[in-house]
Amino acid sequence: VRRKLVVGNWKMNGSLAANSALLADLSAGLMSEKIDCDIAVCVPAPYLAQCQAALSGSALAWGAQDVSIHASGAYTGEIAATMLCDFGCRYVIVGHSERRAYHAETSQLVAQKTVAALQVGLTPIVCVGETLAEREAGRTDVVVGQQLDAVLALLDASDVAKIVVAYEPVWAIGTGKTATPQMAQDVHAALRLRLAAKDAGAAPMISILYGGSMKPDNAAELMAMVDIDGGLIGGAALKAADFLAIAAAA
Ligand code: 13P
Repeated sequence: VRRKLVVGNWKMNGSLAANSALLADLSAGLMSEKIDCDIAVCVPAPYLAQCQAALSGSALAWGAQDVSIHASGAYTGEIAATMLCDFGCRYVIVGHSERRAYHAETSQLVAQKTVAALQVGLTPIVCVGETLAEREAGRTDVVVGQQLDAVLALLDASDVAKIVVAYEPVWAIGTGKTATPQMAQDVHAALRLRLAAKDAGAAPMISILYGGSMKPDNAAELMAMVDIDGGLIGGAALKAADFLAIAAAA
């Protein structure tokens, strides 16, 4: 059975001072509250060293929000997967819709980033999701299926079970609009079928997270669905009390 996973995506937020307070509150909360899931924060790269110093040995894992497809070399501004390992990352988000939309990331590039992460032992959190126009056109399953298939096509058979998938409907991100539990479950079930078509043995083991305006008041009902294995949390991950409440609901 899959253990629930709750991941905070801080996006481009934070400062040394603010992070210090947030990480301290999260660490304290993890010790005192009844939280029985895997939990992590994915932070801006400059703060990975801060996470490593503050969180080593704690139950709170950390990771990055993007990774280069290259191992090293003349790629100004890029960050290699081995560098993320140097700072103790366990996870890296790949293919977030904000990177697809604002940085022209294709599913092919996302697939290469997934491979780069796996090669060094990082767990890639592969994001997929449809826009509102795509949903209204009845294309949700086609769109997320293509996004996932592009990644699966590049994976070695032995690596399929090592990925985490995050379903994040674009229209639900930062909007306060959440997919209903049944809407999300339907997409998660379709994604798991897709995973099973690639690797029937791996599919039941892969965590599929939901992301998009997950908050303390809707987290429990979403994560109660059979194929929703946790959450990828944006705004609510910046408040310790909210993030801990979501983790407690997992
Ligand atoms: P919000 O929780 O702010 O809607 O963001 C979701 C998200 O994009 C997480 O990656």
